[in-house]
Amino acid sequence: MKIEDLRKSSERLTEYLKEKEAEDILVKTFGPKEQPAKSFNLYKSQVDTFMRWSKKHKEVCTKEDTGAIGGGDKWIFMPTGVGMCIKYVCACGDGIDLTEVNKW
Ligand SMILES: [Zn+2]
Repeated sequence: MKIEDLRKSSERLTEYLKEKEAEDILVKTFGPKEQPAKSFNLYKSQVDTFMRWSKKHKEVCTKEDTGAIGGGDKWIFMPTGVGMCIKYVCACGDGIDLTEVNKW
C-alpha cells in the first residue's frame, strides 16, 4: 500500500468519525426519534472548496445578500450507485460542482 493510499484512508476515517460524532450529538440533543430520516454531509475539503469559491463569487455576484431563507440558493445532492454528486447554485445562477469522485 502506498503512502498516498494510507493518507486517503486516514482522511476518510477522520471524516467518518466526525460524521459519527455529529450523529451522536444529534441523538444527545434531540433524542433518537427526532433525528432526520436522511441527511447529507460534506467533507471538510468540500467545505473548504465552497468557502474559497463563495468568497471570490461574492465579488462578482449579481444578487445582493440572498440570505438563508427564500434567497434562491440551492444545494443539490444527487445520490448515485457509486457516490454522491454535490452542487451548489447561487441565486444568480452561477454555481460550483463540489463532487469529489476520488472519495468514491
Ligand atoms: Zn451569485
